[in-house]
Amino acid sequence: MHPPLPELTMQVAQVVPATEAEGPGRRFAVWFQGCPLRCPGCCNTEFLPFKGGETRTLASIVADLERADVEGITLLGGEPFAHSEAASALAAAARQRGLTVMVFTGYLLEDLQRRPDPAVVNLLATTDILVDGPYVREQPDTARRWIGSTNQRIHFLTDRYRADDPCWRMRNTLEIRVEKTGVTVNGFPAADAVGLWKGWTRTKRTQPGP
Ligand code: SF4
Repeated sequence: MHPPLPELTMQVAQVVPATEAEGPGRRFAVWFQGCPLRCPGCCNTEFLPFKGGETRTLASIVADLERADVEGITLLGGEPFAHSEAASALAAAARQRGLTVMVFTGYLLEDLQRRPDPAVVNLLATTDILVDGPYVREQPDTARRWIGSTNQRIHFLTDRYRADDPCWRMRNTLEIRVEKTGVTVNGFPAADAVGLWKGWTRTKRTQPGP
């Protein structure tokens, strides 16, 4: 029996219930709608406005999560820490269900640790892997899987994952789903394939960074 969920809504750009392209293992990935940062070269520009996307209740997202056969959740954006109340509640629910939590952020860990906001504190406290720092187009990372630029750091905030796991050195992958409502793309494309899906009906993807 899990603790009752807070009655929260969240603004999401996309949910992929099971992906192997957004962190170790199979993961339930949530892209938040809205980011206050403007990294040049961000390839998720449609996720930057805080208006748009879909308003989902925390309960409905967690119900989807409970149906998914995954080892953890990945929160991306948009900027998860700009949605920290909902993101921390979702992360807590994932942890209560024995799942791991990975978060991509454009902020630096040190700056987040200085924020007194309890939701930021709670989100950090329930994160196993934090990838931090803005995406820098001029410094593409070709060595580390899932990481957009070489300035970005991978923080293992718990011992549930390890830096020497070979998964961090495997090739990036791109997943394309054809659904009734259109095409969904997520993962990391080759550099010369970025944006190829522009113009498709309802396309979503990850940015090559937070
Ligand atoms: S790369 Fe990430 S942090 Fe930077 S503007 Fe895009 S969504 Fe925001």
